[in-house]
Amino acid sequence: MSDCIFCKIIDGSIPSAKVYEDENVLAFLDISQVTKGHTLVIPKVHKENIFDLTPEIAGHLFQAIPKIANSINEQFQPVGVNLLNNNGEAAGQAVFHYHMHIIPRYGKGDGFG
Ligand code: 5GP
Ligand code: ZN
Repeated sequence: MSDCIFCKIIDGSIPSAKVYEDENVLAFLDISQVTKGHTLVIPKVHKENIFDLTPEIAGHLFQAIPKIANSINEQFQPVGVNLLNNNGEAAGQAVFHYHMHIIPRYGKGDGFG
């Protein structure tokens, strides 16, 4: 979609700090990290939110998410991790290209929750 920020990250017209990429999925650091290593995982096809995902696309995402979470664990050594996915404006969704937040946790006072 031409006016979608995350489609522009996929096509390279907006730069991002990539942490993982395969044929179907891209992961990059959130521009406004709530904790160190906060990452967004997106499908390379434009899908608005969870209601728009096919089982195939959901499968591609969840094949990649554990690998990305493990690589975040190795790099940043958090003590836990939250997966968060906002669907719809009322639920806090601000970018309407499906994304899963991976939020590494470092204990009380780490700035999230
Ligand atoms: P949402 O509220 O839709 O679940 O989360 C959108 C996320 O996208 C926010 O955490 C925000 O910081 C992030 N974001 C928005 N624009 C950009 C951008 O241009 N680059 C990156 N890396 N993250 C972005
Ligand atoms: Zn998009």
